[in-house]
Amino acid sequence: MMRYPYDSKALEEEIGEVTKYATFVTKEIIGYSVLGQPIYELTIGKGPASIHWNGSFHANEWMTSAVLMDVVRQYVKAINHDGVFGEVKARELFSQTRLSVVPMVNPDGVDLVMHGPPHGSDPSEFAKMNGINQTFTPWKGNIRGVDLNNQFPARWEWERARKPKQPSFRDYPGEQPLTEPEAQAMVMLTKKRDFDRVLAFHSQGEVVYWGYQGMEPVQSSKTVDAFYKKSGYLPVRTIESFAGYKDWFIQEYKREGYTVEIGRGINPLPLSSFPVHLEKVKEICAVSLAVPLE
Ligand SMILES: [Zn+2]
Repeated sequence: MMRYPYDSKALEEEIGEVTKYATFVTKEIIGYSVLGQPIYELTIGKGPASIHWNGSFHANEWMTSAVLMDVVRQYVKAINHDGVFGEVKARELFSQTRLSVVPMVNPDGVDLVMHGPPHGSDPSEFAKMNGINQTFTPWKGNIRGVDLNNQFPARWEWERARKPKQPSFRDYPGEQPLTEPEAQAMVMLTKKRDFDRVLAFHSQGEVVYWGYQGMEPVQSSKTVDAFYKKSGYLPVRTIESFAGYKDWFIQEYKREGYTVEIGRGINPLPLSSFPVHLEKVKEICAVSLAVPLE
């Protein structure tokens, strides 16, 4: 069962447990949030294929962090016990892939959703960004009210033109692309690791977006079909949405990039639904390691 609230502290504790249990899991700090919190990456595996998963780009989608960490635990357990992960021997996946996981891209935002504005901050500033909302549960942006998944230089200007012009609990793309340290950290990491395939986990909808302006590789349609067969998450090639992490990744690298929308309902997803998401996400994650690259 997952711990609650799943805030930055809960994540840190769970990372500590996982790295203690499995010494082959490497922990790195890829950057710091606006409030100076570390953004963690776990890496597992020795293989040539560079695969990446991330969660909680959006603050109130913290369920993705909890689910991803549970999947990581199952994967390392399977490696330790020489079991299978999905349909493949975990040790085979370990030797064929190098997995990178950033379970919580936006720790400040997640903490805001759960605990309210940080100590010493001006509550009226947050109330202004939060609009008509009475609580912080609808908050998606980082602590400065910038939507981190609207920050990437992939038709950013289009989002800039039609989205809020001021910091807001959601959708504000910022004054420029990549002004926010959390988005910068993800760009740096992506360049450093040279990922072959990335999965960005969001909620909700039970769909997988897999295209961007026709720049996605042929393999994407095959991989997403394998996701669908295992999870029932419907493949959707494109929507009228730009400047996201996976959009930028596909544009820059012409490689496989996916936005996986877990669950159905209103964010944050109810705690009780955790086991259902976990089962499906685990299948998708296993496929992402097993399906050969183009
Ligand atoms: Zn999202």
